[in-house]
Amino acid sequence: MPGLIYVVSGPSGVGKSSIIQSVRQKIGGLGYSISHTSRSPRGREVDGVDYHFVSREAFQGMIDRGEFVEWAKVYDDYYGTSLRALEGPLEKGQDVIMDVDVQGAKNIKKAFKERVLIFILPPSMEVLRKRLRRRGTDDETAVKRRVEKAAREIRNCSWYDYLVFNDRLEEAVEETRSIILAERCRRARRLGHAEALFDKEGS
Ligand code: ADP
Ligand code: 5GP
Repeated sequence: MPGLIYVVSGPSGVGKSSIIQSVRQKIGGLGYSISHTSRSPRGREVDGVDYHFVSREAFQGMIDRGEFVEWAKVYDDYYGTSLRALEGPLEKGQDVIMDVDVQGAKNIKKAFKERVLIFILPPSMEVLRKRLRRRGTDDETAVKRRVEKAAREIRNCSWYDYLVFNDRLEEAVEETRSIILAERCRRARRLGHAEALFDKEGS
């Protein structure tokens, strides 16, 4: 059975990476789609783990060769999901979870049938501002720009399947884990397995 794609989006600094990392420690069979980006590594990010960090020229080469399922310019940098990043986990029979912006989520929604879209929200815009400041990677102008963009995205998130508020991290992780488990139990996804039980009994 082909795996499911879980698309996680939400404002920068809302806690997407923290949630995905923790959910993956708690659920088996969930591979991570490692994106390519033209931005430089931040903090403790590791090449080939958090992202594939590439030059702008290398990124453009991948666009030209049609290697991306989707790509987008976010702020001043390029981000994209390669076909290989998605196929890797799916070919191993795993589901795949990905962290992409709103444009990427729209493209994945159009391109794949077996996908679930999750949008992460902050408990308030003030908390989002604080988290961005605490992350310490943006100056005040960039924080302002990110918060304004977040407000626009939040106003327009009604086409996602699920909304998760990240107030207490453990609760947001639990909700995201529950979404994934419930989606795996959907009748349409289990029916083949259930029918195989009857087939074996010959009735
Ligand atoms: P994103 O991937 O959405 O940009 P991160 O996961 O990097 O966000 O989180 C941004 C910052 O907020 C990090 O410093 C992280 O530790 C912190 N953070 C994430 N979730 C919470 C939470 N529920 N409460 C407090 N701080 C959080
Ligand atoms: P950051 O630089 O904070 O890691 O990510 C900035 C934004 O780029 C986030 O909104 C994140 O979801 C998005 N992003 C990361 N990887 C991809 C990708 O492969 N495609 C798209 N469209 N967006 C991505």
